[in-house]
Amino acid sequence: MVKAIVGANWGDEGKGKITDMFAEQADVVIRFQGGANAGHTIINDYGRFALHTLPSGVFYPNITNIIGNGVALDIRKLVAELQMLLDGGVSAPKLIVSDRAHVLMPYHVLLDTYEEDRLAGKAYGSTKSGIAPFYADKVSKIGIQVNELFDDDVLRERLEKVCQLKNALFVHLYHKDPLDPQALYDEMVQQRELIRPYVGDAARFVHTALREGKTVLLEGQLGTMKDPDFGIYPMTTSSNTLAGYGCIGAGIPPRYIEDIVAVTKAYSSSVGGGDFVSEIFGEEADELRKRGGDKGEFGATTGRPRRVGWFDAVATRYGVEMQGATEVCLTCLDVLGYLDEIKVCTGYEINGRIVKDFPVTRLLKDARPIYTVLPGWKSDIRGITDEEKLPKEALIYVDFIEQELGVPIKLFSTGPKRHEIIHRTPKIALQ
Ligand code: GDP
Repeated sequence: MVKAIVGANWGDEGKGKITDMFAEQADVVIRFQGGANAGHTIINDYGRFALHTLPSGVFYPNITNIIGNGVALDIRKLVAELQMLLDGGVSAPKLIVSDRAHVLMPYHVLLDTYEEDRLAGKAYGSTKSGIAPFYADKVSKIGIQVNELFDDDVLRERLEKVCQLKNALFVHLYHKDPLDPQALYDEMVQQRELIRPYVGDAARFVHTALREGKTVLLEGQLGTMKDPDFGIYPMTTSSNTLAGYGCIGAGIPPRYIEDIVAVTKAYSSSVGGGDFVSEIFGEEADELRKRGGDKGEFGATTGRPRRVGWFDAVATRYGVEMQGATEVCLTCLDVLGYLDEIKVCTGYEINGRIVKDFPVTRLLKDARPIYTVLPGWKSDIRGITDEEKLPKEALIYVDFIEQELGVPIKLFSTGPKRHEIIHRTPKIALQ
């Protein structure tokens, strides 16, 4: 069976922690989209780790971790991450890199950087990891698959063709030096040796595992709001962040996905640009940002301060629905313990109309949040694992969010560590 762990919001919901936790009872963990442009923070017995490309199952020696065909594979970053694990005392994980994954090339990073600079004040807030140019090339059929790195003739031919196209942009649009196909070839020959031991037919491996009754976790990156189809386009990422994309990005037949865990924080946070209706500012935001996550709300990849706000039930209900969630996991409940009262955004007012359904991006700039105010619990609940030990206000808050989302909350998290989690009996059934 397949369980997907995906984000209901803008990313950074705490999927890494939850995947790491579920991995205890899984056989295979797969990354199926995105690249090294976002991170998962995991705190376990080995310490604190930020993973960007590796699946969050790498801490268990029995798990096979897969980089699916849908991932943007930055080979040098992958290898650096493997080294970071070894340096941290973790044993070398079992890893398969799909031979159909595409390779994120050095020129993708350059293009991303040059384009963000060219756009200056109108930039997308990209992490400059090359993700948008990478996926553009994949769809334009000028990408390079991992297996093609191992065929000298194919690789040379691909690079010649790509350099012709890219150099028109490099020289005439960005006024930079042109790419040299020979230098690129030499670099990629070095890179292919770094991943040679891991490359394999990942989809075949997964199909066999499923037939044998193994448990497979799909680990999403970012969340619904960053999905290029259903998110806040164009301030989105460039690969689909929905659980359904696991079928494509990992080659999983749809009928195998039984469980979809949508992860959401007890408040909102977002990295990058785009409208964020329940965003808060000033001292109120600084306080929440400082207390959020495990070390404040700062990006795991970029260190950028994350934008923060109150829980947005409009965006999250939509986020959960689009993911097809069968259950919700609410993280970071402990963070809110300092507040006298807690606001939850339960509607948007758009040009005089009250809206409960998340609208298209164009309308978001006119949306004003409508808040319901709930009592705070004014106590430190970090690390509590027994629901009965929680203050009643905290339980009321969880019940309220569950009602708003319409999907059972089966788990909530009271701290960043692996076992700081509460299994809850939902008050509603899945509709
Ligand atoms: P991901 O990309 O969805 O895996 O999320 P990130 O790891 O980027 O961001 C989530 C942040 O919240 C990290 O700093 C986690 O360590 C932290 N975190 C996860 N769950 C909890 C929790 O229940 N409480 C607190 N305080 N922090 C948490």
